[in-house]
Amino acid sequence: MTPIKPDFHSHSTLSDGKLTPTQLLQRAQTQQVTMLALTDHDTTAGLEEAQQAATQCGIQLINGVEISTLWQNKAFHIVALNIDPKNPQLMAGLAKLQAIRQHRAEKIALKLQKKGISGALESVTIASNGGMITRPHFANFLMQQGYVDTMQQAFDKYLGQGKSAFVKTQWIELEQAIQWIQAAGGVSVVAHPLRYKLTASWFKRFLTAFKDYGGTGIEVITARQSPQETQLIAKYAQQYELLGSMGSDFHTPNNPWIELGRIPSLPNDIQAIWTSF
Ligand code: AMP
Ligand code: MN
Ligand code: MN
Ligand code: MN
Repeated sequence: MTPIKPDFHSHSTLSDGKLTPTQLLQRAQTQQVTMLALTDHDTTAGLEEAQQAATQCGIQLINGVEISTLWQNKAFHIVALNIDPKNPQLMAGLAKLQAIRQHRAEKIALKLQKKGISGALESVTIASNGGMITRPHFANFLMQQGYVDTMQQAFDKYLGQGKSAFVKTQWIELEQAIQWIQAAGGVSVVAHPLRYKLTASWFKRFLTAFKDYGGTGIEVITARQSPQETQLIAKYAQQYELLGSMGSDFHTPNNPWIELGRIPSLPNDIQAIWTSF
């Protein structure tokens, strides 16, 4: 029997990933991933192609999406897993987020324009090719135009929180997102829990709310995480009775540090979220 090698967090060209859904599944196969969730930002548009490729590659595809939410006016990413992408409530919700993203892109472009940087909206619209427009698209544009040398610089100088082209965005409420996910038969997972730069007490309040609203899981394993960090999240998972998920958050083959399926296994005392998939 082949051992299970899961990865429940990845992106394609339908949002800020570099590989098409087909290329992503092919890479997953090369990496011997046995279960893969495609979780593009606020869209399920890549899932149909991904399913076809998954069947070809003999990989179990888990239908997913990474939803941009707000709780207490702070942004949180919620990974939805095992959803029915055709569920009308979820589709209507994602359509709302897609409109918010488009509107935000226009505002970011205006802010760049005020800094003397023109052509951003046209460029990211072409680059996103009908998928979601994300900040990495703007970062790529700024690199191509020579305004910055690296992706990180683009965030530090223009796109990051509080920087000159940052647009505070009214994503949808956490509670709302969890409801849509439930309506679509899926489970809600806190994405990359240590990336929110919250104090422990704020993070605990967040987990309390997440659980109250019907949240199910937390990414106990993400890429580039120390054993101490894993232990910390595992402790939260136990304390708040959340199931454990694991995902690389793979975006591009150009990042040598993050590879599909190349993540440690779940600690033994954590209950795996995917046993029911
Ligand atoms: P958005 O959802 O459009 O705000 O874009 C967020 C995405 O930008 C995240 O999912 C990451 O892929 C990427 N990102 C965020 N911060 C950084 C950063 N400092 N450097 C590189 N990529 C980043
Ligand atoms: Mn991303
Ligand atoms: Mn995220
Ligand atoms: Mn992600």
